[in-house]
Amino acid sequence: MNPIIIDGKETSRKVLHNLRTDIAQLTQHGHTPGLAVVLIGEDPASRVYVDSKVKACEELGIYSQKWVLPTETTQKELVQLIHQLNADDRIHGILVQSPPPAHIDEQAVILNIDPRKDVDGFHPINVAKLVLEDHTGFVPCTPLGCMELLNTYSIPTQGKHVVVIGRSMIVGKPMAHLLVSKQANATVTIAHSRTADLLSICRTADILIAAVGRPGLVTADFIRPGAVVLDVGINRVEDATRPRGYRIVGDVDYGSVQPLCSAITPVPGGVGPMTIAMLMSNTVKACKLTCGA
Ligand code: NAD
Repeated sequence: MNPIIIDGKETSRKVLHNLRTDIAQLTQHGHTPGLAVVLIGEDPASRVYVDSKVKACEELGIYSQKWVLPTETTQKELVQLIHQLNADDRIHGILVQSPPPAHIDEQAVILNIDPRKDVDGFHPINVAKLVLEDHTGFVPCTPLGCMELLNTYSIPTQGKHVVVIGRSMIVGKPMAHLLVSKQANATVTIAHSRTADLLSICRTADILIAAVGRPGLVTADFIRPGAVVLDVGINRVEDATRPRGYRIVGDVDYGSVQPLCSAITPVPGGVGPMTIAMLMSNTVKACKLTCGA
């Protein structure tokens, strides 16, 4: 089989290109979308993520604020900043980079974000809106990006059996809700670390979505020939041949799985680039909802 390689870089470029028009129009009417990104501590990977989000804003003409707080910032101080950002009319989206230091209660912080500015889609109001199929809510960016890839590549979901491996609130669960919605009409199985006979379940999938964090978990045996495979995993594996000493791989053993699929996302360059694009999209949506555009 000669699979379609789903190009997340190109698809994210298209999403961002389309957003430019919206942003220009909003700005013309005095409503420039704004995003605040909050980082607590010095984690180098988190810093890279935050910087790339701010850079994406700058390139698109979205107003941004970057808050880098010291590791010892208290819960109270962080919540005070969130309240300040909730009240700031220039800001339509607030994102607290995960994971915060251990002394911060992430869920309690999320509860303090105005749900109308929760562009990560983590606030319980937005979780409920996703389940209720209320489109005024915000959906987490990575599963939203996966849906965008399926739509862009005209991969049908109606009546298909989709197996989602992973049940996190960031990827697995929202992914399953999007797929089972009346827009996508898939039949969904959520598998996780305690699932019995994962392999047999995955072999029944028309579409297999891996969001686990285990390099190479999904091997050729998991694949029903002709299946579509979306690999959400981002894992570092040691590689002495690379200047950094590691390379990034997904949850799917790409070499053995790729020949069996009808379409597959590579890692890197598949789902990854979609996440920031959908964050920008959610920020523009938040601005539009606020100003009634
Ligand atoms: P998580 O650790 O919160 O959840 C992992 C899930 O995998 C859990 O629900 C667990 O039950 C399941 N799991 C663990 N071991 C398993 C096994 N052996 N068999 C079946 N299920 C198993 O992780 P997460 O935040 O959902 O992220 C998952 C992966 O996706 C990670 O590699 C992460 O880096 C990546 N990720 C990528 C993006 C992106 O932009 N592409 C965004 C978020 C997360």
